[in-house]
Amino acid sequence: MTTSNTQFALAADIGGTNIRAALIDSEGRMTGRGSINTEPKRGIEDASDRLAKLLKAALATTPTGAEIVGIGVSTAGPIRPATGIYNHPPNLPGWHDKTMKSRLANTMTLPVWIGHDATLAALAETRFGDHVGAENLVYVTISTGVGGGIIANSEMVTGSSGGAGEVGHLSVRTGAYKCNVGCDGCFEGNASGPAIARTARDRWTGEGILADLADGDPQNVTSRMVFDAADDGDPVAKEVVNLTIENVAIGLGSLLNVFNPEALVIGGGVVQGLQRHWDRLQASVIDHSLPGYGGSIPLTATRLGDDVSLLGAAQLAFRQARRQ
Ligand SMILES: [Zn+2]
Repeated sequence: MTTSNTQFALAADIGGTNIRAALIDSEGRMTGRGSINTEPKRGIEDASDRLAKLLKAALATTPTGAEIVGIGVSTAGPIRPATGIYNHPPNLPGWHDKTMKSRLANTMTLPVWIGHDATLAALAETRFGDHVGAENLVYVTISTGVGGGIIANSEMVTGSSGGAGEVGHLSVRTGAYKCNVGCDGCFEGNASGPAIARTARDRWTGEGILADLADGDPQNVTSRMVFDAADDGDPVAKEVVNLTIENVAIGLGSLLNVFNPEALVIGGGVVQGLQRHWDRLQASVIDHSLPGYGGSIPLTATRLGDDVSLLGAAQLAFRQARRQ
C-alpha cells in the first residue's frame, strides 16, 4: 500500500444523464472513477444515496495517511451554490427547490460544497488547464446549449441567486433564430449544435455533400455533418459554418469586452468543428472586440475534455476547505 501526505478531494459531476465521481489529488490526478445513470425521476434522495455509494468506492482508493478535505459536487443548474438548492433545473425534473447537500454530508460524514458545472469548469481551468493562476477567466461551453462560467478577480461569479454566467442568452443576431427560452437572436439560438443543424436544414437543397451525409433527409442533419460537409466544399454547409463562426465571435467578443479576462476558454462538442477554422474564428473575435485587444486575444480551446467539471468540483473542495 502506498502512503501519501497529499490532500485529496472527492468529486462528483451531476448531469441530466450521468453522475460521475472520482477521488482527485491536488495535482488533478484521479483514481476510483465511477459512473451511474442519473435517473432524476427516481428523486434527489435516491440519487444522493447512489452517489454516496459511488463516492465510497472512490474513497477506498485513498492512499494510507492521506487527508480527505471533503466533497465537491458539480451539477447542471440552475442552482444556488451556497445551499445547493435547485431552481427549476430543466434536465433534473422533480429536483426543484431541493438539495442533496445535507443528506450527502450526513451519509459521507464529510463536508459537501456544490457549484454550477460551467462555473466549476472555469475554476478548473485556473488550476489544471493552460491558464494556471489566471485571476480572470471566462469559460464558454458550446454544445447542445451554450453556457458559461466566470472567474473575476479570482472569485467565482455566481450572481444574486446563482444564475450568473448564462452567456448563451447574449444577443448575437437579432431577427434570426430564438432559443428554447424564446429570446430573439441569442448565442444559444444561433450557434449551439442544434442551432447549426437547424440553420442548415432551413437552407436544405436536397443535393450535394450535406444531403449525402444526411442520407437525403434534412431531419438527420447534425452540426458535425455541417462542419464535415463544409470541409469537403459543400457550399450551403460552408455558408452555415461562416455564419456560425461570426455568431460565436460576436458572443465571445462581447465577453472579452465586459470581463477583460486573461483567458477566454471554449469547450463543448461544437468546438471540435470550430477548431478547424481557428484562425478565422480568432480574426472574427478581434473584429467584434474593442480595439484595445489589438491582434492578440486570449482565446483557447479547453484541453481538460470531459473531466473539466469533475476537476472543478475537486478544486471547489480544496478551495473551500482552505477558507474554513
Ligand atoms: Zn436564449
